[in-house]
Amino acid sequence: MATQYKNLINGELVESGEWLDVVNPANEQVIGQVPACGAAELDRAVAAARAAFKSWRKTPIEERRAALQAMAKIIQDNHEELYRLLTSEQGKPHEQAKGEIMGSAYMIASQSTLSLEDEVTEDSAQRLSRTRRVPVGVVGGIVPWNFPLLMAVQKIVPALLSGCTIVLKPSPFTPLTTLRFAELIKDTVPAGVVNFITGEDSLGPLMTSHPDIDKITFTGSTATGKKIMEGASKDLKRITLELGGNDASIVLPDADPKKVAEQLFWSSFTNAGQVCIAAKRIYIHEDIYDELSQAIADYAKTVKVGDGSQQGTGVGPIQNKKQYERVLELIEDAKDNGYKFLVGGDADPTGSGYYVPITILDNPPEDARIVAEEQFGPVMPLMKFSTEEEVIARANNSDYGLAGAVWTANPEKGIEIAEQLETGTVWINEFMHISPYAPFGGHKQSGFGAEYGKEGLEEFTYSQVITVKRDNIPA
Ligand code: NAD
Repeated sequence: MATQYKNLINGELVESGEWLDVVNPANEQVIGQVPACGAAELDRAVAAARAAFKSWRKTPIEERRAALQAMAKIIQDNHEELYRLLTSEQGKPHEQAKGEIMGSAYMIASQSTLSLEDEVTEDSAQRLSRTRRVPVGVVGGIVPWNFPLLMAVQKIVPALLSGCTIVLKPSPFTPLTTLRFAELIKDTVPAGVVNFITGEDSLGPLMTSHPDIDKITFTGSTATGKKIMEGASKDLKRITLELGGNDASIVLPDADPKKVAEQLFWSSFTNAGQVCIAAKRIYIHEDIYDELSQAIADYAKTVKVGDGSQQGTGVGPIQNKKQYERVLELIEDAKDNGYKFLVGGDADPTGSGYYVPITILDNPPEDARIVAEEQFGPVMPLMKFSTEEEVIARANNSDYGLAGAVWTANPEKGIEIAEQLETGTVWINEFMHISPYAPFGGHKQSGFGAEYGKEGLEEFTYSQVITVKRDNIPA
């Protein structure tokens, strides 16, 4: 029988009586079961979070920070078990899974050093005005399947540090590592401060519309983000939305193809392309297009696609069947339209496991689905450009605005281009670097609000201004 993982509600590990199967995408075997919860369990979790909020909000921030630091240490101490479990449910190769687990520990440890200080906004003979930050209350956290633990801690840290309590829902596709983490950290905070609840997608809207949840922090697709905004509008819940992206990488003619080929490859193919901030469109200047596209293709042919638990695998399977079918459909569409493939093009949907071969397209048109849509799979279009003006317009021609990158020997030129891109983050000569101290958020339909940094932390608070009139104190 598959291992059963429990939820954490009010400090207790609990079941719901019904179970959901969790499948390993590398072989389609059921590897675990998690509680299938509905409104009743959600009500219990929210009630526990509400009760715990009363004292947690008054707990000194140093104590809240210490609890979070303890969680970071627990992850480090158990990293091997956690990364193996993560590979088995998510599919990413062990090295990348280890990166997510250790990255989660790092993000907790570093982000929890942030603080929320009062700001004096007027100090005059007439009055003293001070702005303080107060926690919003009970937070509902909703997480996707591509980085299950990292996205969970990304929500737990600012919630707990700011004095909120949280009910966190992992994706039904990847709840195991998160529930194991829940079990490991359950005694680091008082009962009810952090609760983990699992269920089908239908549990999400119940959270969005729950009258006793004050804020939703969500990472996932833009389509779901819009539904959340709509659901949250009923009682004006606070929301933070981290959504999809169609990030453009721009390679200028002065970039050295030998130096950047491998990095460009991984900017697209890390986690089999299932990264919101993966490079999903790569624009290469025509002067170096042939040399660089060949160098990327040559490197791609050295990377092994397979089961992430096997040594030497660079690209694992797609995490779930629905996404697998979508990526195959995009490849079929490229074939039907006669686009040229530099690598791949022969997905083989036979056998077990959701494997898609590394696929690189050679200069498809701008309106190709593979260019215009977020692929979220190991499929990358390379496109040729001639002028800076043209490539900036093409990069900005998207409803998304998450991130982007510029590759150049001249960082000043890179910055000049970066400042014209309509995205929340732009890297020059690197990719996917997220700082715990800087806001990370999308422009346009890639998000609403930000995570990380002071700005991200403040999203879990209301401002409160207290003003004392100094020259009017009754005798
Ligand atoms: P998804 O939107 O399908 O699901 C995300 C979560 O929302 C899951 O927990 C799911 O159960 C829940 N959910 C589904 N329907 C819901 C509803 N109506 N109301 C409330 N919750 C609901 O996304 P996914 O397929 O799990 O993840 C892939 C997407 O996430 C991609 O578009 C990717 O770009 C995006 N993503 C964004 C970031 C970022 O930081 N911007 C990071 C990772 C992933």
